[in-house]
Amino acid sequence: MQEAGTIPMQQRTQTASQAHAPSYYAASANPSPMREVLKEDITADVCIVGAGYTGLSSALHLLEAGFNVVVLEAAKVGWGASGRNGGQIVNSFSRDIDVIEKTVGKQKVALFGEMAFEGGKIIRERVNKYGIECDLKDGGIFAALNKKQMQELEHQKALWEKYGNDHLELLDAKDIQNAVATERYVGGLLDMSGGHIHH
Ligand SMILES: Cc1cc2nc3c(=O)[nH]c(=O)nc-3n(C[C@H](O)[C@H](O)[C@H](O)COP(=O)(O)OP(=O)(O)OC[C@H]3O[C@@H](n4cnc5c(N)ncnc54)[C@H](O)[C@@H]3O)c2cc1C
Repeated sequence: MQEAGTIPMQQRTQTASQAHAPSYYAASANPSPMREVLKEDITADVCIVGAGYTGLSSALHLLEAGFNVVVLEAAKVGWGASGRNGGQIVNSFSRDIDVIEKTVGKQKVALFGEMAFEGGKIIRERVNKYGIECDLKDGGIFAALNKKQMQELEHQKALWEKYGNDHLELLDAKDIQNAVATERYVGGLLDMSGGHIHH
């Protein structure tokens, strides 16, 4: 029987085939320890299979709601997509919000606008609450290679301000050069409500 609030993991000895491909992220990640092998029968309210963002976030939500949760992982925490790269916190969807507005209408689009910021808020709350070492850095830049792209970013800024993002700042060529140490861009859009994590 497992205590409520603990998250036992199925352990496997890490073999070469389980190692992440060599990359900046693999080389600079915080250690993710192997966990105990599940050897006995246990009971839980909910059993989650897979310790990526989806599984762990669901487990935390359920634990906070008072459920006894078990997470089973075949390899190690963050073994899948969640552990392969740095995570960009980008407050948007795969379609621009004005495109979504055309599809769902003016009333429902407000809900989408709010939802775009929810993920970033949950990440920050969780990082603070549980002291997660994931090198959280605030701020993300959309960089423009030419005047046309810069105009598009100005349009995006006006659009997202309509949906409550007051953390946006347009950067000119000098500002962006200071931020990313290259002369490649004519400007950009800094979003301080975005950010980056790397565990
Ligand atoms: C290169 C890349 C870049 C990305 N960049 C971003 C980004 O910048 N921002 C962003 O928001 N998203 C990004 N994503 C998407 C994001 O990483 C994924 O959507 C997210 O990690 C998926 O999490 P997951 O928990 O669903 O899956 P995974 O992280 O893949 O976790 C699944 C886990 O389940 C385990 N498992 C599978 N089968 C079993 C089983 N039978 N028994 C036990 N365990 C099992 C696996 O070992 C694994 O650990 C990126 C993805 C990739 C690949």
